[in-house]
Amino acid sequence: MKYAFEEAWNVFSYPFFRLLRLAHEIHTQNFDEQSVQISDILSVKTGGCSEDCAYCAQSVRNGVKMPKQPMLDPETVLAAAREAKGRGAGRFCMSASGPRPSSEDEFEKICEMVRSVKAVGLETCVTLGSLTEAQAAKLKESGLDYYNHNVDTSPEFYPRVTSTRTIEDRIRTIEIVQQAGINVCSGGIVGMGETNEDRVKMLVLLANLTIPPRCVPLNKLVKIPGARADDSKPIDDFDFVRLIALARILMPKSYVKIAAGRNTLSESTQALCLFAGVNALFSSEKLLTVDNIKDNADADFFRRLNLKIESPLL
Ligand code: SAM
Ligand code: SF4
Repeated sequence: MKYAFEEAWNVFSYPFFRLLRLAHEIHTQNFDEQSVQISDILSVKTGGCSEDCAYCAQSVRNGVKMPKQPMLDPETVLAAAREAKGRGAGRFCMSASGPRPSSEDEFEKICEMVRSVKAVGLETCVTLGSLTEAQAAKLKESGLDYYNHNVDTSPEFYPRVTSTRTIEDRIRTIEIVQQAGINVCSGGIVGMGETNEDRVKMLVLLANLTIPPRCVPLNKLVKIPGARADDSKPIDDFDFVRLIALARILMPKSYVKIAAGRNTLSESTQALCLFAGVNALFSSEKLLTVDNIKDNADADFFRRLNLKIESPLL
């Protein structure tokens, strides 16, 4: 084990500016501090999921009235990827609802999407739930760069979030993906009633993986009316910045990304997050089923902070 919880908790609890100074120093040793990686994301199959993830609009068990959308055609996805590239994205993420790829035919379509998006000159990422070794090998062969599979929260809090899968199942898929030679994108959600201790435990779990995730997305819970997740204790902005700083310190070489809920953070808080170690963002107007950033708002934000967009490392 690389990190003990107590050690990480001690760092998380440092005086705020000392924590930021340490995180920023590690950030600049490993990355260009003025550079940010930009992704776009598209839901290629939406709703109708049998799992009971408490936060999710796509679970049939949450009673959310969301129209089900079957798997999109690869041509539709390719057109969206071209548009994303035109807006400056370097990576295109494709997300499918469900616990795992549901049929051979669907899985083939996903592989076709990966091949064509890669051919456009974008890094590719998919999130499809659990995978077998054969599926991971097939995705690698198709040109997949990243697989997103979030651990979502601490092992202790996990059963409060989902009962239809375990955090050990998630870790098993992460290992399968890494063994196939695909980068892993794995992080979690904050603001579901978990404590700061749970949040730190989640980062310790990720940092202690044999290979830490190449990308660590942190989502702030977006409350979906009807979904079970308890949003009554949203995370304090400074605690969110602390969490980012800790992610940067524990995983110095990983991209740290703000995913859902960025639109609830002021620009000043986002700037603090970038100083503390964030170097990846989603720029799309939608993040799957929820709103993200208004068209072009980022161009102005990046200009005022002298940020440049990282080109894909293809
Ligand atoms: N079905 C796949 C799975 O479960 O791995 C992938 C899709 S899932 C929608 C992708 C991720 O989006 C989740 O792991 C979760 O971290 C994030 N997410 C989903 N709904 C969210 C919400 N309401 N607020 C914040 N993050 C959310
Ligand atoms: Fe289904 Fe994934 Fe949503 Fe869980 S997070 S309910 S597995 S779509």
